Amino acid sequence: MLFINSRIRRWMMASTEVQKLNREIEELSRNLESAKERLNVIQRSCFHKWGPIRYDPIVVEAHTLPGDKPGTHGVDWQGPVYVSRKETPRWTRQCEICDLVQITDKTEERKVVKPRF
Ligand SMILES: [Zn+2]
Repeated sequence: MLFINSRIRRWMMASTEVQKLNREIEELSRNLESAKERLNVIQRSCFHKWGPIRYDPIVVEAHTLPGDKPGTHGVDWQGPVYVSRKETPRWTRQCEICDLVQITDKTEERKVVKPRF
C-alpha cells in the first residue's frame, strides 16, 4: 500500500511538472512568435546598411559511397563510388542596423571599361 502511494505521489508530481512545462512552452512559443513578428517589422522598414560581402560556399567534402554489400543485388551490384568535393558558390551579407542576413547564389557579369592609350 505504501509502495502504491509513493508511486501515485511521484506520478502526481510528474503530472504537475508536465503541465507546468507545457504551459511554459506555450508561453515561450507565443513570445517567440511575437519577437519574430516585431523583428520582421523592423527589418522590413530598415534602410539597410550592408556589411562586407562574405563568400560562404556550400561545401560537400569528397567521400565514398559504400555501394552494395558483396553478394547482393546480382547483376545490378554496384561497388563503392568515389564522389569528388563539390563547392557551390554562395555569398552572404548582413545589415549592420537590423542584423538581416541575405544569402544569394546569383551573380552578375560586369563589363569593365578602362582607358586604353
Ligand atoms: Zn537593415
